[in-house]
Amino acid sequence: LVSREHHPERSTVYVRGVPIGPDTVTLIAGPCAVETPEQTLAAARMAQAAGATLLRGGAFKPRTSPYAFQGLGELGLRILADVRAETGLPVVTEVVAADDVEMVAGYADMLQVGTRNMQNFGLLQAVGEAGKPVLLKRGMSATIEEWLMAAEYIAQRGNLDIVLCERGIRTFETATRNTLDISAVPVVQGLSHLPVMIDPSHSGGRRDLVLPLSRAAIAIGADGVLVDVHPQPEQAKCDGPQALVAADLSRLAKELDALTGVV
Ligand code: PEP
Repeated sequence: LVSREHHPERSTVYVRGVPIGPDTVTLIAGPCAVETPEQTLAAARMAQAAGATLLRGGAFKPRTSPYAFQGLGELGLRILADVRAETGLPVVTEVVAADDVEMVAGYADMLQVGTRNMQNFGLLQAVGEAGKPVLLKRGMSATIEEWLMAAEYIAQRGNLDIVLCERGIRTFETATRNTLDISAVPVVQGLSHLPVMIDPSHSGGRRDLVLPLSRAAIAIGADGVLVDVHPQPEQAKCDGPQALVAADLSRLAKELDALTGVV
């Protein structure tokens, strides 16, 4: 269902009217985690001022350590809904358990499946039935075939509004958190009609890499980028070292705009 054999034209996925697909470069920005109403609104305003058209933010955080901040849960979703009402930005947020899908879909405009859950097949089937577009991150140890098969689990349940997101894979290299597999973009676009985005924040894990990785993403034909922003990264409860501040984000947005006209 997700292959180009089945559907030769590349698809555009609409999130509350915002397109993600071949004719546009979509910028999704927001905090890694929803922490407070003030922090989320400030991050959303930064995103909007820079030209982002969708707001990201995690209320359920699947952290490596069970002692790390796990997110605010449903309270975080309420904050996101309030910020959407305030700014008009549609909300992309992660769901980590099949039993939560209906509840999260009640607040979200797009459901995110994170790298750690790419092969959580019950979750994939549940998001396939939720009636909302899905952002499917690549598993950090998944091959492209496994990733596309994960998308197939969602599609099989009747939902073809799927956007794939390359967010770095595990390699022997330790200088970056994960290695952004930039070649996945044209490879996947050759195999599948689904849009493909890049997450330069979670792949590199470092603020200074977000701009160069984003340039590479657009140059190679990605359909958009998903980036973390925070009004005070040094106080972030989650992934502060990779979060952009307002000036970084507007520079990134300007560069993406300029590059989009060139490539
Ligand atoms: C995220 O985008 O908030 C996230 C946790 O990403 P990943 O699943 O790629 O680590």
